[in-house]
Amino acid sequence: MTTEQTDVLVIGAGPSGCVSSAYLNKHNLKVKVVERAKFPRFEIGESLIPRVMDNLDEVGFLPAIEKAGYEKKLCSRFLRNGINCTFYFDQKFGDGWDWTWQVPRAHFDNLLAEEAQKQGVEIEFETEVVGIEFNGSNSTTTVKDKAGNLKQIQAKYVIDSSGYGRVLPRLLNIDAPSNLTGNSSIFTHTKDVNRPAGVEGTQITFEVIEQKLWLWVIPFSDGVTSLGVAGDTGLIEALSETGDGDEALRKIINRSDHFRDRFINNEFIFKPLIKKNYACTVSKQYGDGFVLTGNSSGFLDPVFSSGVSLATTSGLLAAKLVTRELNGEKVDWQTEYADYMDKGYEVFSTYVKEWYNGNLQKLFFHPNGNPDVKLKICDVLAGYVWNENNPFVTRHERIVTNLALTLD
Ligand SMILES: Cc1cc2nc3c(=O)[nH]c(=O)nc-3n(C[C@H](O)[C@H](O)[C@H](O)COP(=O)(O)OP(=O)(O)OC[C@H]3O[C@@H](n4cnc5c(N)ncnc54)[C@H](O)[C@@H]3O)c2cc1C
Repeated sequence: MTTEQTDVLVIGAGPSGCVSSAYLNKHNLKVKVVERAKFPRFEIGESLIPRVMDNLDEVGFLPAIEKAGYEKKLCSRFLRNGINCTFYFDQKFGDGWDWTWQVPRAHFDNLLAEEAQKQGVEIEFETEVVGIEFNGSNSTTTVKDKAGNLKQIQAKYVIDSSGYGRVLPRLLNIDAPSNLTGNSSIFTHTKDVNRPAGVEGTQITFEVIEQKLWLWVIPFSDGVTSLGVAGDTGLIEALSETGDGDEALRKIINRSDHFRDRFINNEFIFKPLIKKNYACTVSKQYGDGFVLTGNSSGFLDPVFSSGVSLATTSGLLAAKLVTRELNGEKVDWQTEYADYMDKGYEVFSTYVKEWYNGNLQKLFFHPNGNPDVKLKICDVLAGYVWNENNPFVTRHERIVTNLALTLD
């Protein structure tokens, strides 16, 4: 078996892996990415939030993304029984980006990978990690290419950005149950042949079908739209006795007064995919010679589109800390990485819970909504979940619950 050597091995070329590898490469570390799939490959997660722009900007990806002409996302619209609550990101409490994009992930992820490669990152596609052994902080990873050939990669550090592949959580047995279990999703793409002209046609929307079940509509600039339903697993399963995603998704579209006519007779571009009980976490985010980033370290829920933002934030932060450590500095991984990331995850986790228990929906759709509250919640929805000036961040555990009580 051949053996290669690198400073840092990154597992997975999704958004998290691309951002971390680009940063490491810019900081003169030898970095190698191994990616199981052949790109472009589809992944779900098409609604970005503004905080992601900080990360993409820091590694120099923005000019290329700008050229791709993706649909701009200026706001998040929530609908329930015909009532509209739209959060415009330029009307938020704090500083920071006030727009982002709605991205077809196959194209977007491929573009990020190409940008990383242009900057000098070596990505080996169709090569998957099948085993790893640690000797202190040094590791030897076994990878297998599509022809079945095995090879070893010795690295001083491993960043696991393998998303739902969850390579190190499985190999090191550090998978842990999420306290957000119990939600599932069905999704597909459609050629949006009845797309209305103007803003309505390009508007991203999350429509409440019932308290624990919602429909997403994410129009792309190429005329295709992403459609999905997410929510309580029991409710999702009840949509189709045979488990047919097509039937289930059409039932939900049929329940939407807003979108029924636009989508009910559309053909789906691919058979709707079903992702059950998607929330996940780990018992440990880092260890001697390794760190987990993005979905490999955990995923909450799609309702506030936090996934790619958290994945790139953790990827970038991990890369910065690895760079410092390999340059001989002492890094406190618990406070500088795990505690920091936990803070962001915990804020989003509260908002996800408050969404499904109905409290946030009460605030969003109340006829006398408080504009100041809206600005502060908008800051959270934009992804600025570390803004210590925002009481909707610092007091996230009680503030939504308490406000909702005042509306009863
Ligand atoms: C139903 C649903 C809807 C969602 N909607 C949104 C949304 O609207 N907005 C949003 O921001 N997020 C959303 N997400 C979350 C989003 O999918 C993820 O957070 C995001 O893709 C994480 O990026 P990543 O780089 O960590 O992982 P990924 O994008 O999953 O990339 C991981 C890469 O690792 C590779 N890999 C896996 N195993 C191996 C292996 N053994 N060896 C080598 N490579 C490997 C994979 O092929 C993959 O390319 C959604 C999630 C779900 C379940």
